[in-house]
Amino acid sequence: MALFKPEKPSVLSENLTTLADRLKGMGEQGFRAKQVMEWLYKKNARNFAAMTSLSTKLREALAGQFSLLPAKKILAKQAGEGTEKLLLELEDGLYIETVILSAPDGDEAEGGARMTLCVSSQVGCAYGCKFCASGLDGWKRNLEAGEIIAQVLLAADHIAEKKAGLRSRTLSGIDNVVFMGMGEPLANYENVTRAVEILNADWGLGLGARRITISTSGLAPQILKLAENPIQLRLAISLHGATDEVRGTIMPVNKRFPLAELLPAVAAFAEKHGRMVTFEFILIEGVNDGLDQAEALAKIAQKLHAHVNLIPYNPVEGLPWKRPNILRQRAFAGVLKKANVSHTIRRQKGDDIDAACGQLRLRKEREKGNADLALN
Ligand code: SF4
Repeated sequence: MALFKPEKPSVLSENLTTLADRLKGMGEQGFRAKQVMEWLYKKNARNFAAMTSLSTKLREALAGQFSLLPAKKILAKQAGEGTEKLLLELEDGLYIETVILSAPDGDEAEGGARMTLCVSSQVGCAYGCKFCASGLDGWKRNLEAGEIIAQVLLAADHIAEKKAGLRSRTLSGIDNVVFMGMGEPLANYENVTRAVEILNADWGLGLGARRITISTSGLAPQILKLAENPIQLRLAISLHGATDEVRGTIMPVNKRFPLAELLPAVAAFAEKHGRMVTFEFILIEGVNDGLDQAEALAKIAQKLHAHVNLIPYNPVEGLPWKRPNILRQRAFAGVLKKANVSHTIRRQKGDDIDAACGQLRLRKEREKGNADLALN
């Protein structure tokens, strides 16, 4: 499965230029595109009929050409620690996940929580990182830009529904959007960068570029391409091993893009964007949590002036790895501290709701598969 041809494309995949062109092709004036965008992203219209400043004829024409929301929320699962996962169904019946993470140190005016939305970029994933549930059933297809933007709108609606009156405006208090959900974002480069454009644009959702992060398993050529993108977004690299030998046991992508190719691409991105890159490093007991790995990681991070985000491993059903105990975590972090490397140890959220990327969706897909099998 790879090609997805929706009956009608989603208007959420369009940018201002492409929408203006489509409107002109429909015999309308191009400037109407700005009005449509305003309805979508400032006035939160969720159907074309609600765009009452447009003529009835244009609203009908838009509804004939485009769908609006190409996904629907079918489940929300709340965990006790400020993590909530949304399971969304796409038009072709596939599922994706979007996770809302709240940290309690946000702006009082926004209800006191800083909110980060973790979006998916593909259905499934081809990269097969050994710690991750998203790749367990392989890659199914890329998400359209509109399906990525729909995750943001549906999450904003979900938050607004829960906090009626407090957060009823665009984005509903979402402070950051990270491409860290299911899929390798840079393997879906065009759709992901289009979604970033819509997130960031004044005519779109108006989210500051520094509040948008792309997290990649390390596709060096696409990192170089992204370095040329003028939007000043943040980049995170799933490193998880500080030598090829160790990284290769966790990240199959390391065979295609070993550290000797990956790290210069990261350096080029950091130089072009003048911004600190983050290395994500999941600590797995007995696999990559040795002090030799910490020393090697410290050297890499020092050289690239990168921040390191240590993430104690979140056990995945069906995988044998374990989280190192707190003493091993501290010893590892101690090496980074001694080397003056900027770092944090992330508290793992959402263990109790299968929040490791892809697990909830995988369960749902398998349930559905079993149900289909039972019916046949
Ligand atoms: S960590 Fe990301 S790139 Fe790796 S398998 Fe999971 S979704 Fe794919």
